[in-house]
Amino acid sequence: MNILVTGGTGFIGSHTIVELQQAGHTAVAYDNLCNSSTVVLDRIEGITGKPVEFVEGDIRDQEKLTKTLKDFDIDCVIHFAGLKAVGESVHKPIEYYDNNVGGTVKLLAAMRDAGVNSIIFSSSATVYGEPTKLPLTEDMPKGQATNPYGRTKGIIEDILSDTQFAYPQMNVVLLRYFNPIGAHPSGTMGEDPTGIPNNLMPYVTQVAIGKLKELGVFGNDYDTPDGTCIRDYIHVMDLASGHVAALKALKPEGGLSIYNLGTGRGTSVLELVNAFMKATGVNVPYSIKPRREGDVVACYADCSKAKEELGWEAKYGIEQMCADSWNWQQKNPNGYRDQA
Ligand code: NAD
Ligand code: UDP
Repeated sequence: MNILVTGGTGFIGSHTIVELQQAGHTAVAYDNLCNSSTVVLDRIEGITGKPVEFVEGDIRDQEKLTKTLKDFDIDCVIHFAGLKAVGESVHKPIEYYDNNVGGTVKLLAAMRDAGVNSIIFSSSATVYGEPTKLPLTEDMPKGQATNPYGRTKGIIEDILSDTQFAYPQMNVVLLRYFNPIGAHPSGTMGEDPTGIPNNLMPYVTQVAIGKLKELGVFGNDYDTPDGTCIRDYIHVMDLASGHVAALKALKPEGGLSIYNLGTGRGTSVLELVNAFMKATGVNVPYSIKPRREGDVVACYADCSKAKEELGWEAKYGIEQMCADSWNWQQKNPNGYRDQA
């Protein structure tokens, strides 16, 4: 199939292109490069041996999107493009709603105009809000997101579902990611945050390499076995293969499907730090800091629906995720920037 990958030069998009190409699909990356670099396109080619078509463009540019969808005879869109910094979204709600929600509406209009019926969307476990029951299943009602970023995901899910209802021949797949970490095992591709990382794993790797002094563990007085919050970390290559599985399961008659993509296993902050030290042999100094506002205590997935309906399940464990994140960080201490 010919796949338009919005946000294709970003962290998850780029790893997904590797899997798409290796499964025999043709991927066209569409990105405005606001949080990524074209260096990654060479890295993808270095792994798969196949060049990646790239269109520099914004998802709010409906005309360019429509042209791109037609020019490349696109069968399905995988929609990763979006702003994703939780803290920033609190201070820039207009930019977040414009980019994420407004951009998705333009994308849907372009798909309608170009006659493209299938879309797979990067949603997030954040749409569940504070879990009332664990593990999380797809049929649980959505909860209250704690920030504008999280709300954009819930709103986009609603927009996509309303659109699928109005155009029943459309295929809409909402993939709710848990916590993607890790990197391509080659060490040539990985997560490249700008500035001081907000997320746990890039913070840990930057402490390990000496760019940051110590990790702050946000709270050790939660109601969990070691007092720190629990998340469902998933290797980015597993997440990437989940998209290929979702593509394979697209229904010719159209429909709306929702899947959790996680491992089903919860790992606490301290367990992750210890797993990292064990997997890499590198010490990660840390100290306990106050709780971070808006954090849910524990969040992990029931992934049985994806296993039954997509034939997909995560393969990698937490130590492999740590080893691959470290391999990438060591080989690229400044991410893609040195090569740009
Ligand atoms: P990323 O920032 O690495 O990738 C997003 C890409 O989208 C970037 O390359 C950026 O330049 C591009 N982009 C942003 N706005 C754009 C626009 N208006 N037009 C064109 N391109 C634009 O982020 P990621 O971690 O790869 O996340 C991909 C998607 O998955 C996002 O939608 C994110 O919200 C979602 N998601 C991520 C996580 C996570 O922890 N990384 C968890 C759940 C969901
Ligand atoms: N966390 C932490 N120190 C950091 C970054 C994160 O203790 O520097 C904790 C955070 O409080 C949460 C967990 O690690 O309990 C995962 O955080 P992340 O931001 O990676 O993911 P999210 O909270 O969005 O699921």
